[in-house]
Amino acid sequence: MKCRICRKKAAVKLPSHNTAFCKEDYLWWFQKNFRRTVKRFRMFKAGDRVLVGVSGGKDSLALWRLLVEIDLEADGLYIAQGIGHDELPYSDLGEDACREMAGKLGRPLKVVRVLAETGASVPELEGILRRKICSSCGLTKRYLMNREALEGGYDVLATGHNLDDEIAMLFANVLTWDLQRLAHQSPVSPQRGPKLIKKVKPLCHFSEREVLAYTMLSGIRTMREDCPHARGATSIKHKELFSRLERDSPGSKRRFYKEFLRNREIFEQAKPPAELAYCHRCAMPTTNEVCSYCRLLHRVAASKEEVHDGPPKPRKIEPEPASPAPSGLCG
Ligand code: SF4
Ligand SMILES: [Zn+2]
Ligand SMILES: [Zn+2]
Repeated sequence: MKCRICRKKAAVKLPSHNTAFCKEDYLWWFQKNFRRTVKRFRMFKAGDRVLVGVSGGKDSLALWRLLVEIDLEADGLYIAQGIGHDELPYSDLGEDACREMAGKLGRPLKVVRVLAETGASVPELEGILRRKICSSCGLTKRYLMNREALEGGYDVLATGHNLDDEIAMLFANVLTWDLQRLAHQSPVSPQRGPKLIKKVKPLCHFSEREVLAYTMLSGIRTMREDCPHARGATSIKHKELFSRLERDSPGSKRRFYKEFLRNREIFEQAKPPAELAYCHRCAMPTTNEVCSYCRLLHRVAASKEEVHDGPPKPRKIEPEPASPAPSGLCG
């Protein structure tokens, strides 16, 4: 197959766009579409300070570099979850890749450790809270990213969710007809009140394969390992399902997402955002008296006391939140 632009031998085939590109023209196509998405959804304004949630994986590192290339003051934030073991030190590998990128871009990287913040690593939280690990991982990441962005005086928080992440999230929400979550799923979540920062997902129109091709062709070194807890996750099963559909009918993912965006106002009107309150303990936004993160801290502290006071007392198990959303920062 030949490159659509220069007719040289193609390096990347894009069946969903019914086209192919050589290396140089693929990089040009990717950057052009990235800028188009950023502009179309008015993700940034001149002078914005941006905090990028990075994991060491291809999506977030590609995003960080692309944002710096369009002259934004973009700094990195790595949330160290304490995942992994001697043979696969997953979190350490992610941190190394982020530090390397920070050095190349000449931008600061802040590292926040879940263990130091909560008293337990993400795998330990699973045992303490008796909730699926991805649920605790997502909760701590969301809270800490928002807090760090606010405390650092940033205007926008950017994450590397790609098209496959968005489709998996959308599909999970459609399966349960969760109107509240459907109303909130968007490439841009505006700032709500003084304590909930604006969030953007500038890679939402690129598939995982397209981002991978971009990182490989532009020589970005990323962590290749998957999180050991990703296996069996519902979001991964949904991604596999859509990949099969995409193979049989190229362009299905893009059409599903595009049509959702075209119609998402329907969900917004049906479920306008709930009134935000502020947590009695940490003063961060919540819809309850005490936010989920502070409840998590309380459970961790209680579990430590139980260890010192003898055998554990029976505990009420909190119901699992519906379809924990894929974080998009898993690798
Ligand atoms: S799969 Fe992703 S969300 Fe789940 S534990 Fe691993 S990094 Fe966290
Ligand atoms: Zn070409
Ligand atoms: Zn709180």
